[in-house]
Amino acid sequence: MIPRKFEYFAPTTVAQAVSLLRKYKDEAKILSGGMSLIPMMKLRLVSPQYVIDINNIKSLNYIKDSGRVVRIGALVRHADIEHSPVIREKFPMMVDAAAHIADMQVRNLGTFVGALAHADPAADWPASALALDAELVAQGSSKRIIKATKFFKGPFETALKPTELLVEALLPVPKGPKLGQAYLKFERKAGDYAIVGVASSVVLNENNEFEKVALALTAVNPFPFRATDAEQLLIGQKPSKELIEQAAKTAASMSDPSSDLRGSAEYKKEMARVFTRRSLNKALERAGVAL
Ligand SMILES: Cc1cc2nc3c(=O)[nH]c(=O)nc-3n(C[C@H](O)[C@H](O)[C@H](O)COP(=O)(O)OP(=O)(O)OC[C@H]3O[C@@H](n4cnc5c(N)ncnc54)[C@H](O)[C@@H]3O)c2cc1C
Repeated sequence: MIPRKFEYFAPTTVAQAVSLLRKYKDEAKILSGGMSLIPMMKLRLVSPQYVIDINNIKSLNYIKDSGRVVRIGALVRHADIEHSPVIREKFPMMVDAAAHIADMQVRNLGTFVGALAHADPAADWPASALALDAELVAQGSSKRIIKATKFFKGPFETALKPTELLVEALLPVPKGPKLGQAYLKFERKAGDYAIVGVASSVVLNENNEFEKVALALTAVNPFPFRATDAEQLLIGQKPSKELIEQAAKTAASMSDPSSDLRGSAEYKKEMARVFTRRSLNKALERAGVAL
């Protein structure tokens, strides 16, 4: 339970952190909240030779609202999101998610951006990032923007290069006459990882038809995904119980869960159906649509 020996750096600027990453490449790891990295180092699942702690880069700690986009810096903790009035107003699914991640101690340290970089296939945040069409800003020798839909590649695998620091996430604010969002997590006990988590965002037009739908599922696939077939089924239609059930079945059919201590693959697929339906219903309820 003691990590292997490593050298520790605590840069105070993004430029310093990136220069260390470029120097040590695969042998270095960024430390943000440390809530996944430290346990993995203690279990010796990873043993970086160099640890680059970004907690002293104070310029990365912000939630900035420019009206059309909200920017979340790399040092924003799960708890900051849970208690942010801006997030509560514009992205209620994130408040749902934050409140169900681990316990208060983990929420006070773990970061939103760090969780995306970590890309645990059962993590909660990737579902919100996908459903909200987030864009992730990576800083290496130059800056590049990676769409969340192109970011998750496999279990603990992302489009980020070892020489890049994820500096912030950009969240476009949904617009439309009727808006609703929800994140529903099914867990064995409070604070556990999800058996399934479903993030839904719906926009309905004046005729009460689905104008935009985003549905993202976590924990039921090697990496979190957008249930695009289910979204297509809903676009342009008026919500009904039958339609929502059909969309939930379609989303579940796109999942590919594995059997583990949280349940068999068949059970998880079934729960994906049930929780997609409930998540969509909650989003519709918040949009003021009763079924
Ligand atoms: C007891 C416990 C219960 C938990 N339960 C849940 C849960 O229910 N749901 C859930 O979603 N998560 C859960 N977690 C994980 C938690 O949410 C972590 O905070 C999160 O996975 C990682 O965020 P972090 O800031 O702690 O990252 P760290 O642990 O510091 O880093 C994780 C990985 O991401 C990399 N990284 C971090 N930040 C960056 C960056 N800015 N740029 C590039 N790479 C970066 C690191 O190098 C490392 O490889 C739990 C953790 C614990 C300890």
